[in-house]
Amino acid sequence: MQEDFEGEIRRDFFGRTAIITPSRAFRPHDFVPTKPTKKQDPSKCFFCPGNENLTPPEIDRTTLEGQSVWLNRVFPNKFPAVSENWAKAYGFHEVLVETPDHFKTLSDLSTKEIYFYLKMIQKRVLARSKNKKLKYPSVFKNEWEAAGASLEHTHTQLVFLPFVPDYVKIQQKVLSKNCPLCKIAKNKKFPQIYSSKNFWFLAPFVPKYKFETWILPKKHIASILDLNDELLKELAKILLIAIRTQDSYLGYPPYNILYHFAPYRVKNFHFHISLTPRIAKWAGLEHQTGVILNSASPNLVANEYKLNLKAEGIEDVW
Ligand SMILES: [Zn+2]
Ligand SMILES: [Zn+2]
Repeated sequence: MQEDFEGEIRRDFFGRTAIITPSRAFRPHDFVPTKPTKKQDPSKCFFCPGNENLTPPEIDRTTLEGQSVWLNRVFPNKFPAVSENWAKAYGFHEVLVETPDHFKTLSDLSTKEIYFYLKMIQKRVLARSKNKKLKYPSVFKNEWEAAGASLEHTHTQLVFLPFVPDYVKIQQKVLSKNCPLCKIAKNKKFPQIYSSKNFWFLAPFVPKYKFETWILPKKHIASILDLNDELLKELAKILLIAIRTQDSYLGYPPYNILYHFAPYRVKNFHFHISLTPRIAKWAGLEHQTGVILNSASPNLVANEYKLNLKAEGIEDVW
């Protein structure tokens, strides 16, 4: 799809700046829609069932009734970013393995499995909230090596920090007064891709990553801790739709999922989730200035993803 578009410098309410440049034609076949193969032998994988003794002692797991194998599992990171034993870098670093199946990616899971995955994130974020030394739960996923994953068995990481990072402080300031995310439906700069009863899936005005998308609640909800089971199930559905659309359109790209939850004990916040494909390299301009060059405009992303959803038979139902 060719856009009649001049370059445009954009800045959003979080201070993120990008130059959206005219795009070349984008077609789905620009990307190879094949899943990278996982090469490791599952019998040697630390995260596979049967090798539980190779990880540090387990913290939690989900097992469905009548199943002998767990559905997901949490344990401390063997090579942590922070540790309860480190005076100068206190915290907890946990790994959540989302499926026992070595060869599946997140988009291969069912809505039910994604629900139990989110439920486990909620459980862990809640459990650590009781520790008053911890200020911020950083939850993210690195999918495929180019996005930072060092082990190929799909997993999510939870880093519980003793401080609120600067970027989160900016988010907190912006979202606690006249919250722009509450008004996002009326903001034409954020083209919608899909919505369910309580959540949006849209393209942000200033994408820091090519084909970046956001998922967020329509209401001013601070954190995953504030979602009841019904909302968690709805979030699982729309998250899966978003990841499947991304994998299908971009051909299983390396990507991150960034869960922007409120800092601990902060009630005034609007949580959101960004999906950030890592298909374009940052170069000098990005590293020097933080200004991102992006040739995929949000309108283009929304239009292309909508067509993809339509082809899959998924249309906005609300
Ligand atoms: Zn494995
Ligand atoms: Zn809000």
